Amino acid sequence: MSKYTRLAIAIPCFNEEGLIKSTTERLLELLDYLEKKEKIASNSYIYLIDDGSKDETWYEIAKAVARHPHKIKAAKFLSNFGNQKALLAGMLGAKKIGCDAVVTIDADLQQDETKIEEFIDRYDEGYKIVFGVRNDRKTDSFFKKITALAFYKLMAILGVKIPKNHSDFRLVSCEVLEILDKFKETNLFLRGFFHEIGFKQISVQFDVKKRNVGKSKFNLFSLTALAVNGITSYSVVPLKLICVSGFLCMLIGFLMGMYAILAKFLWNDSPDGWATAIIVTSFFGGFEVFCVGIVAEYLGEIFKEVKKRPRYIIEEELL
Ligand code: UDP
Ligand code: MG
Repeated sequence: MSKYTRLAIAIPCFNEEGLIKSTTERLLELLDYLEKKEKIASNSYIYLIDDGSKDETWYEIAKAVARHPHKIKAAKFLSNFGNQKALLAGMLGAKKIGCDAVVTIDADLQQDETKIEEFIDRYDEGYKIVFGVRNDRKTDSFFKKITALAFYKLMAILGVKIPKNHSDFRLVSCEVLEILDKFKETNLFLRGFFHEIGFKQISVQFDVKKRNVGKSKFNLFSLTALAVNGITSYSVVPLKLICVSGFLCMLIGFLMGMYAILAKFLWNDSPDGWATAIIVTSFFGGFEVFCVGIVAEYLGEIFKEVKKRPRYIIEEELL
């Protein structure tokens, strides 16, 4: 990256009042260091997106902007649209303000911010996307480790090719942002998008730190929603599975029917059959509902997309 390259660091913030000051100070220090090494331009900046926080986050952000008006910019969502929408707003907002590349990182700086220098070096070598991959999951709870493993396995089975332990800590060049802006679907699964889009990309390993202030904003509910979104927006394998399993069920049903006819008319052996009938009926009943459930998942997704609602609504901007 030449010293004229303008870098934006976009940060989604939801109820992070205790972290804004330390995080912005730390990143300003990093920007300063990178400028001195002539890796980025002096008009590089930090862009904070308040995802509808309920605490004093926006007040803290406004104070940070007031302290460093040329270095910190911010936008505030009207309400909580979720981390993926805040990331999207961070990237597209930075494109609008102007930048050559944008790095997204969490407000708690759990991802190793010193790796941004390496991201820039890779960008300098011509990579358009540089994505962070976690070295291990030492800081995660047992539950999060298991669910993450299951998620990546399931995604692989369903044909969604995303690298394991890939996070939303990445550098994206402005060419990629141009394309991202053209993807108008409401529930865009960013990790899938960046991996499938086809730009020259490379990964950089990083260690995950512990969160010092506040607590994780994700729970089983929001993580499941993210996983389901990833699957329904990038895989049609579940739909295909319905066809395959539907065909297999028909085949089994046909064979059972043949057997029943033979048993009745050829072998004159008509078994009680009640238990079998009930088991079969309930099994297939359940199976059908399950299939309809998967279809409904996609229908729900289509339902949301066709409405073409705005992906986020910015209430206020400090530019
Ligand atoms: N975040 C957000 N909106 C939300 C939830 C989280 O913008 O609804 C932000 C949060 O402030 C942080 C990042 O997303 O900057 C990651 O959140 P967190 O650290 O809680 O996630 P974890 O590290 O547990 O995966
Ligand atoms: Mg975190």
